[in-house]
Amino acid sequence: MEPVVGIPRALLYYHYNWLWENFFNFLGVEVIVSPPTNKQILNNGVSFSVDEACLPVKVFMGHCFEIKDKVDYIFLPRMISGKKREYFCPKLMGIPDMVKNNLSNLPSLIIPTIDLSKSKRNLYPALFEIGKMLGKKEKKIIDSYNKALKIWEKERKQKVLETSIQPKGKGFSQDKPKIAVISHSYTLYDNYMNMDLIKRLQTMGVETILPEMLPSWAIEKGLSTFNKRMYWSLGRRIMGSAKYYFNHPECIDGIILLVAFGCGPDSLIGELIEREAKRIKKLPLLLLTLDEHSGEAGLITRIEAFIDLIQRRKKVG
Ligand code: SF4
Repeated sequence: MEPVVGIPRALLYYHYNWLWENFFNFLGVEVIVSPPTNKQILNNGVSFSVDEACLPVKVFMGHCFEIKDKVDYIFLPRMISGKKREYFCPKLMGIPDMVKNNLSNLPSLIIPTIDLSKSKRNLYPALFEIGKMLGKKEKKIIDSYNKALKIWEKERKQKVLETSIQPKGKGFSQDKPKIAVISHSYTLYDNYMNMDLIKRLQTMGVETILPEMLPSWAIEKGLSTFNKRMYWSLGRRIMGSAKYYFNHPECIDGIILLVAFGCGPDSLIGELIEREAKRIKKLPLLLLTLDEHSGEAGLITRIEAFIDLIQRRKKVG
């Protein structure tokens, strides 16, 4: 019987989902992804985490707890770097240790180290480590990864092509306010964590512009106007998009920056973006901080007031 590998639906799952799932599927392994976040998962995550952990890490712990008794392995890569001269945050690097130290009765853990900061070739030892734990041969491992990578890259490219951002008026309604929502993918696409922010905005008549709608060249262009190289991979997307919009305010009507309480990089990036918004003065910015105690009423009041402000600006022209 083939082993069952569990993948927690949290953190970088929201970035690498198709790649990881398809890789295991092509290897001939069954994959169980934990269900979408719910109250129980969040509460468990909070109770198995240290207070200092950021909200997405707490949620991740809850997902590990949720699947640990249903699988033979949990996939817990130690994510150090996905690209030359770029790094993931220290909490992502340390996540396997947090899980090992805070949860008991765990199944076997697959913990490859992904560090591509020097060369992409460093991925291969990690892939072989994963495949060998599951009893697979090197050729099968490489073939499975290449097939999964092709699908993942195609899906991501397709998403950008389908939704690519256009200056105001092209492909979007003139009347509806257009708001760019910037955040880490694991905060933005976890509807329980963000209290259904995207759907709420759309119900309130807002056209939402999500990070995937901005092609990489636009993010790089935004970053090029920043006077220091940003080496946090996830921060680059947030900072680069915000800078691009500040330099092209004709694309949108406002920005919502969604940050997680307890996130070191977000606290710095949030501050830099707020300063830039004040300096440029062309785009209203709403900074929303999420933690496990965030309430719906407070969120709704703040977004309603923000939309109101944008509508009034649109009327004035
Ligand atoms: S970048 Fe921030 S939110 Fe993401 S894992 Fe690191 S500390 Fe947590």
